[in-house]
Amino acid sequence: PGSPPKQEDVQKQPSSPPLPRQNAKVTPPSPPKIITDKDGRFELTRVGMLGEGGFARVYEVKDRKGRRTACKVVTKMSLKTKKAKTKLWAEIKIHKSLEHPNIVKFQDCFEDDDNVYMTLELCHNGSLMDLLRRRRRFSEPEARFFMVQLIGACHYMHNHQVIHRDLKLGNIFLDANMNVKVGDFGLAALIESPGERKKTICGTPNYIAPEVLFDTANGHSFEVDTWSIGVILYTLVIGKPPFQTKDVKTIYNRIRNNEYDFPTDRIVSLEVQELVTRILTTDPSSRPTLHEILDNRWFTRGTVPSNIPVTAHDHRPDFS
Ligand code: ADP
Repeated sequence: PGSPPKQEDVQKQPSSPPLPRQNAKVTPPSPPKIITDKDGRFELTRVGMLGEGGFARVYEVKDRKGRRTACKVVTKMSLKTKKAKTKLWAEIKIHKSLEHPNIVKFQDCFEDDDNVYMTLELCHNGSLMDLLRRRRRFSEPEARFFMVQLIGACHYMHNHQVIHRDLKLGNIFLDANMNVKVGDFGLAALIESPGERKKTICGTPNYIAPEVLFDTANGHSFEVDTWSIGVILYTLVIGKPPFQTKDVKTIYNRIRNNEYDFPTDRIVSLEVQELVTRILTTDPSSRPTLHEILDNRWFTRGTVPSNIPVTAHDHRPDFS
């Protein structure tokens, strides 16, 4: 009570139309206190739980030398179907192939009798969703800082033929120095030939691009991430996603009609409004490129802080 609802969680499994986000709920993993593999290559001690996703639990663990990492645990019970296995291997293959300062580093993968374990770079400061809940909204300089790093990570992924397809505040983590680390490649797709189009309807309702929902014949590509970047920018400076409403069908209608506005009681610059409006273009081929976004005057004529202090958890930093 008192705290804002977990919008992303609430809408993760909408009733209609269904998004094949993940499998039905299975019993969550309960790994042993000391996690080891068959050959004794890994010995990780659980020190706390970091979070829970659709079919995984993520723990903070320490290795024999006391180094801390995040460990994502998936039960083998949830991997009974061929489809579930294929999805997890695709996630691992894609995530493993990416190395960038603003992408959560994939370290190792191993298994025991009950679970599959993935060790990941530990992000000490939670997700941008957690931070937004505490702060309600961010100042424009803070938003520029987060956006520059997010767009850098996204540009790198696209150069490596990867579409993330689930960019949202809850999948953007912050390390100990408040640097952005994009994570959760559970819906990512690899473009294997130029011009290839993806057809699977997937994503998170608030962040989903119109062509994913309404141009299923033609499919979608890299521009879906650009759309999500527009939604993220709006959300950072306004404090809630642009198409947000209680039911998913209405969200989809609003996305279809490009129906959102900038609340008049929240003062944001005309420049940021103009940039969001440009990014949230219904036709994917008319959306700006990531380069064009970074060249926009909202970035080039505004303050981009070199770092964000950890005190930003509780109050707006002063960059003047
Ligand atoms: P799923 O793919 O099942 O949705 P996620 O990868 O999103 O799972 O992880 C679920 C939760 O675990 C996240 O929302 C976050 O709270 C936490 N988490 C995931 N990865 C990390 C990490 N590298 N560092 C810290 N916390 C993490």
